[in-house]
Amino acid sequence: MLQIGSHVNYGSREGLTGCVRDTILNGGNAFMFYTGAPQNTKRSPIDTKSLQEAKQQMEESHIPSSNVIVHAPYIINLANRLDEEKWYFAIHFLEEEIKRVHQFGFSYLVLHPGSHVKQGVDVGIQNIIDALNIVLKDTKDYPVMILLETMAGKGTEIGKTMEELKGIYERIDEKERIGICLDTCHLHDAGYDLTDFDAFLDLFTSFLPLSLIHCIHINDSKNERGSHKDRHENFGFGKIGFDTLLKIVFHEKLKDVPKILETPYINHLYAPYQKEIEMIKSKTFNAHLFDEEKKTL
Ligand SMILES: [Zn+2]
Repeated sequence: MLQIGSHVNYGSREGLTGCVRDTILNGGNAFMFYTGAPQNTKRSPIDTKSLQEAKQQMEESHIPSSNVIVHAPYIINLANRLDEEKWYFAIHFLEEEIKRVHQFGFSYLVLHPGSHVKQGVDVGIQNIIDALNIVLKDTKDYPVMILLETMAGKGTEIGKTMEELKGIYERIDEKERIGICLDTCHLHDAGYDLTDFDAFLDLFTSFLPLSLIHCIHINDSKNERGSHKDRHENFGFGKIGFDTLLKIVFHEKLKDVPKILETPYINHLYAPYQKEIEMIKSKTFNAHLFDEEKKTL
């Protein structure tokens, strides 16, 4: 069965129940959320009543816990140790986030590996490894897996190549708690050709085992391959294209891996996910999918 969903908003009032409701409305059986604003580290305590309600709804709607992904805020930068205090703040925040994911009863936390801010890739990678080894040791009792996301290589981002991700993975003490989140837009922007996805998977497995992949961000890209821009486009409307993305969504080897849409809102107003999921299920591209929403500028 297709495992698909989108990024949904975790509201401070509704908590997780809003995420589940939106996922059901979108026709999905998977979702991803930030436990607070993605650009900051302010987090409020989990409302256990809303959590219980959400869990019940998930069960009734056949959304397995393994299809729920938490995304760490993108300001967390483990690669930058120029300011020791900030580096430790990021470590401690990540530890708290892992505990939160565990409290929710979920298993996966997606993390951008970090940006080396001109210290060089090797220094950046070493900082990430040191930070992750501290985090994993400190959170032994919270068996959450950190999924390192493949990055577009914007600015000084680390994780834009399989070599870099392997370089991190190899030197992690507790490897069983590290996985990978593929992002199709990022891979394309980083320069990887996804048109022959089997060839890409062969390349991937020459660096890392396929079993490490526990989430796929399924986004089209506004830019040409290798642009290092990281600008997401709606499914089938970008430079990767419908056919290639569809092949990835339905790929036999990754059929149990949740696919998460992080595609842009139409006119910054309309969430595209319901229509995109419907189109994906129909396996037929509709160039006019958002004509109505686009008219209402
Ligand atoms: Zn991400």
